Amino acid sequence: MSEKATDITTLPAAQENRGRTALSMDDVKTQVSMLQEFVKSVMVHGKDYDTIPGTNKPTLLKPGAEKINAMFGFVPKYTITNTDLGNNHREISIITSLYTRDGVFIGEGLGSCSTMESKFRWRKSGRVCPKCGKDSIIAGKPEYGGGWICFTKKGGCGAKFATDDATITSQSSGRLENPDIADTWNTVLKMAKKRSYVDATINSSSSSDLFTQDVEDFKEDTDTYTETYEQKPADNADKKKELADALKKELHELCDALHMDKEGVFAEYGTPQNIEEAKKLNATLRKLVQG
Ligand SMILES: [Zn+2]
Repeated sequence: MSEKATDITTLPAAQENRGRTALSMDDVKTQVSMLQEFVKSVMVHGKDYDTIPGTNKPTLLKPGAEKINAMFGFVPKYTITNTDLGNNHREISIITSLYTRDGVFIGEGLGSCSTMESKFRWRKSGRVCPKCGKDSIIAGKPEYGGGWICFTKKGGCGAKFATDDATITSQSSGRLENPDIADTWNTVLKMAKKRSYVDATINSSSSSDLFTQDVEDFKEDTDTYTETYEQKPADNADKKKELADALKKELHELCDALHMDKEGVFAEYGTPQNIEEAKKLNATLRKLVQG
């Protein structure tokens, strides 16, 4: 971190900046309604822009920004600043300036990205499946039976392991410094460019009422969540049956202990209609048994 080399590259400008004439109020209104019409008729939800749950404004994506700039005839110019952070780490900041085809400056945006961002800096060291040897073990969600699953969507074999299975739990899991940080440089450059380009587009097209750009990167971080969400509750039904059987067995034992038959218990306390009611009934009977 002590040595910081900064190198600035300016890519060729589309044309000279000749200054921009101020837009009249009518021009602005026309531009906004043009854009709204354009979004409705040309832009595709999920491809050009997307709605991320928990946000109130759609996020403008790069393909959508390209479409907007093509419609307005805006041409980008990039000014790239590359800062060496030591140990092969670097931060890239990019200013995207948008010009009309005649070279009139319209507006600009800033975007940066660094190899120190957690998704580049760290590598997850995953647990390895003892059956197939793939690095695809995930923790099963408790409602689907818990334990460990060799997740098929991560290329695994689908094997299941108990929560306390030592072949899994003895393996360390956590994050390690990415040993190939230089491999991420190009991705970091592209990401900084994309952030900057989208920012410039929103600023220059007066579309900040329509779009935001801040949350797009969340999409890239959602893999870990989808893995858990997409687990099918395949053994959910089995688990329910298991539980129901266990409750029935316990009910019989409790009836024996109370010297009552099941019919008599149901007549007294009601016939349970579901697992929750069966649990409650057993709890009531257990109290009676314990006196
Ligand atoms: Zn496996």
